[in-house]
Amino acid sequence: MRPLAPRKNEALRHLKRIADNRWRIDPVADVSYDLLTNDLIYSARDIARLVKVHSEGTKTRTTSTAVQNLHDTYLKYAAEEDLQENVELMTEALTRCMWHFDQTFFFGLMRRHVRHAGSQPAHNPKLAGGLARYELINLDVRDRMHRTLKAQWDPTIDHIIIWVRDADGNLRDFDELLGDMLHEMCHAWMDRFSDSMDERHERWVDLDDGHGEMFWNLLVFVLQRAHGWLGGAALLRMRDEARRDWTEARAREV
Ligand SMILES: [Zn+2]
Repeated sequence: MRPLAPRKNEALRHLKRIADNRWRIDPVADVSYDLLTNDLIYSARDIARLVKVHSEGTKTRTTSTAVQNLHDTYLKYAAEEDLQENVELMTEALTRCMWHFDQTFFFGLMRRHVRHAGSQPAHNPKLAGGLARYELINLDVRDRMHRTLKAQWDPTIDHIIIWVRDADGNLRDFDELLGDMLHEMCHAWMDRFSDSMDERHERWVDLDDGHGEMFWNLLVFVLQRAHGWLGGAALLRMRDEARRDWTEARAREV
């Protein structure tokens, strides 16, 4: 295994290769790592550090165009009077914000267009040079509630699913939906780009259905920054909850 990710350009070249190979051969099996030599895989800690040290998320709004764009997009939708009544508008707002979150925290890798050699995994194909291309991580906004879940990362098809209705049939709070989306984006980041064969992976990532200590470490950072730029009581509350869960995960024996 290579030393720490913070050699940014080398790390990003490698992560782009993982992304581009994701759906090359078998659309269902997780083949990306088999196509690469093991010594090129970064641990979950390195993958979290890459975000915390090198992403646009380290910057203030005033020094980063990506963060400024996220901020402007958020404000534009938050100011829409019917956002909390209009599911199409909410879907658009979440989709746009996911794109900007990807730019600020995840180096644009999640919405990166990658080739797909097998059956169609998702909606929204992009045709480029005659080849079907799909975004690596798809967002699936569902206009209803789920009995037990608010959002979910499905690693078999690389979809982030968000259920936008509450039990009363109302649209859930925009900030809360964004927090849920960031939570699932952190799952996607860890699952897609970190070394699952690392002996520490169970403790760092897999524990408690994907909620190991490095997952929380990353999510606390992401929610802290998102709240700093966008405000929103929900994001602050979710950061505090993530911090508490992080402490619990660290204390747990594996
Ligand atoms: Zn989770």
